[in-house]
Amino acid sequence: MGQNAPYHPTVSLNCFRRGFRGGDFISILPFSSFKDGKRILIVSDNGGWGVVSERVYNLIFTNSQSNYRSLSKNIDNADELLKALYNQGLIAINGDTIVNKEQYKMYKEYQLDMLILRVTNKCNLRCAYCYDSCGMNGQSMSEQIGQKAIDSALEQCAPVLDVCFHGGEPLTEFDLMKRLLEYGKMRAAEGGKYINFICQTNGLLLSEEMVENLYKNEIGFGVSLDGFKKSHNQCRVFPNNESSVDIVLDNLKVMREKKFPLPGILTTVTSRNVLDMVEICEFFEEEGFSSIKFSFFFPQGRGKASAELHPNPKEILRGFKEIIQRIVNREIWNLRINNLIEYLGNILLFDRVFMCKRHPCGAGRSLMTVDVDGTMYPCDCLGGNVKLGNISDMSLQTAYRSEGMRKLNERAEDAGRKCFTCIWKSFCGGGCPAHSFACFDDVRGIYDIDCFLGRTIFKDLMWALADGSELLEYFNYHIDQELLIKL
Ligand code: SF4
Ligand code: SF4
Repeated sequence: MGQNAPYHPTVSLNCFRRGFRGGDFISILPFSSFKDGKRILIVSDNGGWGVVSERVYNLIFTNSQSNYRSLSKNIDNADELLKALYNQGLIAINGDTIVNKEQYKMYKEYQLDMLILRVTNKCNLRCAYCYDSCGMNGQSMSEQIGQKAIDSALEQCAPVLDVCFHGGEPLTEFDLMKRLLEYGKMRAAEGGKYINFICQTNGLLLSEEMVENLYKNEIGFGVSLDGFKKSHNQCRVFPNNESSVDIVLDNLKVMREKKFPLPGILTTVTSRNVLDMVEICEFFEEEGFSSIKFSFFFPQGRGKASAELHPNPKEILRGFKEIIQRIVNREIWNLRINNLIEYLGNILLFDRVFMCKRHPCGAGRSLMTVDVDGTMYPCDCLGGNVKLGNISDMSLQTAYRSEGMRKLNERAEDAGRKCFTCIWKSFCGGGCPAHSFACFDDVRGIYDIDCFLGRTIFKDLMWALADGSELLEYFNYHIDQELLIKL
């Protein structure tokens, strides 16, 4: 057997406790197989996978069912092998599988844990791909709308709620953020819940004083930056078309000098920086940043007029393959590359802990977005497209039951989508509905980048996991251990 998934639920079958008996019935689950020296088997319904030798493949996986007596005649250590195959989700023993469709949490129920508040749609930049065509003449949220959204989210949420201040550029409304933070903390304490605040900023207003204020108020933050060179940041420009990168890097340099912890980076990958993905990771690793997330350009808002920014999916894959190799060589290690952690999470865990890699995704289920005027969206990326009502006259829970959510909910069960029969569906998550809506005006479509990566990267990661322990160690080093404790 190849690499065991480390966090599979421990199920003790009767036959494990009492020892196998001759008549114990072994059946294989429907699988797909890839061969490249070794053989990878994947079970698309439950996310099971494993690497087996040709001998095990021929003995077990060419018969749909057999019994322990006949298998054990030909296999040394048959008990251990069968337990391992069972724990990998590849076989059923006496009709039991480690994860059945009901247990498998691919289709998570409504359990809100993140609220995005678009406190403003004003922005001091004019990025070429901005999903909401933001500029300096926008609106900001009223405190009353912000409070209503927080109240409603605290009523519905899990014990912990993350509130993300978004924009536009949220730091242009720092006073409003602070007032909402005080309100949220007070309301959470009254309701016996815990609330965290974060914000996503373009980094231009991160003066020393602002950073101190953010830390004093316990507001975490991530910075959007498409790399460390002007050539990477040709899209992140001021209204006069000048690049913003030097100011942001100077601000981050001051943070390092003052020994503030460095933030996570959000990098939008376009045709202009796709060939630099490895170099970008190496730079942020060397500079001591904690994490990076690559977000792939999709044509929404101002980006609709910039089709040339669409990156080639093959070049993205090439970038990831090189990054994986750097990780295997331990040249990149301390930087958490969130995309890879999410992909690995769907390979190494049966539970789907990352909301963009579920089918259906967390939009509206784990996450709700409230716009400056109170309009509710299932996700900030679906903003403007899938409206669920207004927080002034309905709760987030009512919005969850609205017509707008129906199509999102139906998406995962839609037999007309090619994801329905795709062997990678339980690993991939079926692509982002916001990407689909931006391209096809319909959440049921599939964005080519999402699908290309879904069909290719999991296989590469499985081979890499089977070949050595480095990727598993990297995952264990970066995965939030608290996330695993909750499983
Ligand atoms: S709509 Fe896209 S970005 Fe939003 S939660 Fe779903 S997959 Fe993630
Ligand atoms: S997006 Fe593509 S790879 Fe992913 S499940 Fe759908 S068809 Fe399969």
